[in-house]
Formats: sequence, C-alpha cells, structure tokens
Amino acid sequence: MPSCREFDALVTPYVDGEATNAERALVEAHLAACPPCRQRAAAETSARDTLRTRLCRPCAPDDLRVRCLAASRARRSLGTFFIAASLLLVGGGVLLYVLTRLSPTVLAAQLMLDHVKCFAVGRPTSPVDAGVTEQQFERDHGWTVRLPRAAVAGLELVGVRQCFCAQGGATAHAMYRFEGRPVSLYILPDVNRARATAGVFAHDALIWSRDGNTYVLLGQETDAAMQRLAAGLNQGL
Ligand SMILES: [Zn+2]
Ligand SMILES: [Zn+2]
Repeated sequence: MPSCREFDALVTPYVDGEATNAERALVEAHLAACPPCRQRAAAETSARDTLRTRLCRPCAPDDLRVRCLAASRARRSLGTFFIAASLLLVGGGVLLYVLTRLSPTVLAAQLMLDHVKCFAVGRPTSPVDAGVTEQQFERDHGWTVRLPRAAVAGLELVGVRQCFCAQGGATAHAMYRFEGRPVSLYILPDVNRARATAGVFAHDALIWSRDGNTYVLLGQETDAAMQRLAAGLNQGL
C-alpha cells in the first residue's frame, strides 16, 4: 500500500483517469484506509470537475484530445488554445513539449488551470518558511528546488507543490498570498524560454529564465504589481 507521500504523486493521475490499473488499485486501497487522503482526492476531483465543466463543454475526452493536439499545432484562436491547454493538463505525456515549445499563451493557460486547482485544494493561507519548505520538498519529491528569499511587502509563501508530475518534467509550484490574494510562481527546472508575458482569462503570466530554469509568475494583480512581484522574486533567487 502506498504511503501518504507516495500517494501524493499518484493522486493527480488517478483523479485525471491517467493512472495504470496497478496504480489505481494501490490508490483505492490507500483511500479506503486513509480519510485525509480520501478528502484530498475528493477535493481534487471536484476542483477538476468544476474546471472541466466551466472550461470545456461539451467534453468528449478522446475526441477533444485528438482535436486539441491538432489545434495546438495549428495555433488558432485563444478558445481553441484554451481547450488544448486544459486537455494537456489532463494528459501529461506531452508535458515537455508544452513546457519548452508551445506559445506563452498555452503555457500560461495550462499553469492558470493548475493555479486555480491548487488554490482550490486545501486553500493554503498560513505563511511557511522558504528554507524549511525547500527541505520538505526535496524529501518528498527527490529533487531540489531553490525558492526565492523575496522581501516584497504583502507577499507570503504559503506552500509548495510538485505539479504536472504524472510524466515528463516536474514543476515546483510555489504558492503565495499577496495581500491575501493567490499568486503562483512556477519553477520549471532545466527549461529555457524567452522572456514573455501572456494573459489568459483575467490572469497574467510573466515568464523569464535564469540559470537554466524558467520561472512563471501568475496572478490577477495589476501590471505594475506583477512587475514588482516578479522583480522582487527574481532578486531573491
Ligand atoms: Zn494517506
Ligand atoms: Zn499546482
């Protein structure tokens, strides 16, 4: 039976219907015995369902998945991109492709979905220490992430998750509250992308690379505030 920690890596593929039969069996055995994980899986399922019904209706997964791949190649409207991005979130197999090649808008749309989902699950609000969190992250996920030591008034780190971990590249999702509102910094290790900005569904993303990693700041703040946050976080790296 997986431990709660191992369960953490399996929960997203399980909820998204991407787990293998063996993984499903493991997860279901664990869920039957572990109420906190059961609660978490239920929260993640309902967040995912909400996103799906709001964002991609009507949803015929297999058909849409095929169309989404075609659409992401054709680079058409934002609406098409958005469906593509939501499906790419579900299917992790093309992850590396997404992280390195797709347009800033697709990357932003995919991360925006994750941002909304992660803040919906558990609703983190309590500040955590960056150093302690880095150590925990390394213990839990087996790779090192360097979080900014940012001194930006009103900005507090409230948690870090490993997201898009099903297959391909893992991303560290640093979750912040800025004056109480959710802001995310995604750290994409070993990915280099050009500096860019993108706006998707009332969220803005600032993308930059540094020392071989890509950083994506995502939030619903004013342009000036986003620039200030990005500068403060980058300075703290
Ligand atoms: Zn558990
Ligand atoms: Zn996340």
